[in-house]
Amino acid sequence: MPIATVNPATGETERTFEPLTPGEVEERLNRAAAAFERYRTTPFADRAALLHRAADLLDEDTDTVARTVTTEMGKPLAAARAEAGKCAKAMRWYADHAEGLLADEHPDDGDMRDSGAARVLVRYRPMGAVLAVMPWNFPLWQVVRFAAPALMAGNVGLLKHASNVPQTALYLADLFRRAGFDQGCFQTLLVGSGAVEGILRDPRVAAATLTGSEGAGRAVAAVAGDEIKKTVLELGGSDPFVVMPSADVDAAARTAVTARAQNAGQSCIAAKRFIVHTEVYDAFLERFSAGMRELTVGDPMAEGTDVGPLSGAQGRADLEELVEDAVRRGARTHCGGQRPKGLDQGLADGFFYEPTVLSGITPEMRIHYEETFGPVATVYRVADLDEAVSVANDTPFGLSSNVWTGDAAEQERFVRDLQAGGVFFNGMTASHPAFPFGGVKRSGYGRELSGHGIKEFCNATTVWFG
Ligand code: NAP
Repeated sequence: MPIATVNPATGETERTFEPLTPGEVEERLNRAAAAFERYRTTPFADRAALLHRAADLLDEDTDTVARTVTTEMGKPLAAARAEAGKCAKAMRWYADHAEGLLADEHPDDGDMRDSGAARVLVRYRPMGAVLAVMPWNFPLWQVVRFAAPALMAGNVGLLKHASNVPQTALYLADLFRRAGFDQGCFQTLLVGSGAVEGILRDPRVAAATLTGSEGAGRAVAAVAGDEIKKTVLELGGSDPFVVMPSADVDAAARTAVTARAQNAGQSCIAAKRFIVHTEVYDAFLERFSAGMRELTVGDPMAEGTDVGPLSGAQGRADLEELVEDAVRRGARTHCGGQRPKGLDQGLADGFFYEPTVLSGITPEMRIHYEETFGPVATVYRVADLDEAVSVANDTPFGLSSNVWTGDAAEQERFVRDLQAGGVFFNGMTASHPAFPFGGVKRSGYGRELSGHGIKEFCNATTVWFG
């Protein structure tokens, strides 16, 4: 993929970038290694002050950086602004909590005596330079979700961002530099995916985190496995959204629209499969389809746009293939199912797709098992709780899940049985710095955010005194 800003609303290439030469990559790896040696011994308070400064700068920059994000990947401007705000919040959260999260641990007296030690503690030490391979869909958030805890732990970061968001990638490196971090603490490497293997095999790189597709995760984890380097993988999702008879169907349908259509449906934790108890199926389907139909699709820079373009031509073509395959095999379309007509002239070559609702899905359809990375929902009718659980788990993915029920016994059952990294009741999945985020099955492994996330790239060191 060329490294370029292609405006998804117009299809125009606005800027192209040359990838770094091998010599330039070498220079940055040296800089990262040297920075780590200095930075790893800095006190938490110093790191926190730098991260607070980065958060303040990001707040000041919100309008300009949001425009860059919208230009590069097409999300509505208001959503890009909200993403920047969420990043500043996560930076502050880690700045304020990292020292406590990584405080020395002291085993029980009994265990200590049993080990023959006079004193034992566990110290969380940084690992070194962590390579972050990141996607374009939340181009600020995915990076900050990694960078804030990594920097607070004393690690340094190397960002290989998606090739379609180079200006956002350069902005992020500049933000941390302006905040006062040593230039080697956080660097953007403008390289294509073909350069990742060599960088990851380099001894100056300690570990990798990847957010993206299953294929990219597999490729990076294979190299890391060969090098015995730690990885965290945040991959795709096809989250279920279950609606049981005790649900507030209006609220469920309203939330379902947001959960499916936010970011033009290009979110790993978007609800994608709507699994509805037969008693409330008709009411839910009617209200959900009406809500999806009413969304305003159009210019992401315009106020009032709900759904912007997809990020690229290929993403839209992949989505269209999934819908066509389903319809050819008998799925019913309740709304959408095509490119929107009647958009402004300037948007004619943009990568837009109408919010779409399909029912009558069968396992023979590709859409039943594959991830729909766009505003396309599949709706299933189920007879009871057992069938709801079974359909919800009938996916290779296991990122998060949403369940609408007021019944406590049902809630326990879903928590026990849903194969996912999160179970959200009577709401939609959203991440928060204080809660772990990540998946099971083909959605990846490891966790980001919270204490779990910051410890992923720490060396939990046993310190034993005789
Ligand atoms: P992608 O093609 O996998 O790209 C993600 C990143 O991986 C990009 O930086 C890409 O670089 C790089 N990459 C791709 N193939 C690679 C390879 N073989 N070796 C090394 N690096 C490689 O994913 P996408 O299509 O941009 O993003 C959508 C996917 O990400 C969806 O499946 C979505 O669910 C998932 N996602 C998951 C989460 C989560 O937290 N679980 C969050 C957001 C998105 P280039 O751009 O240069 O190709």
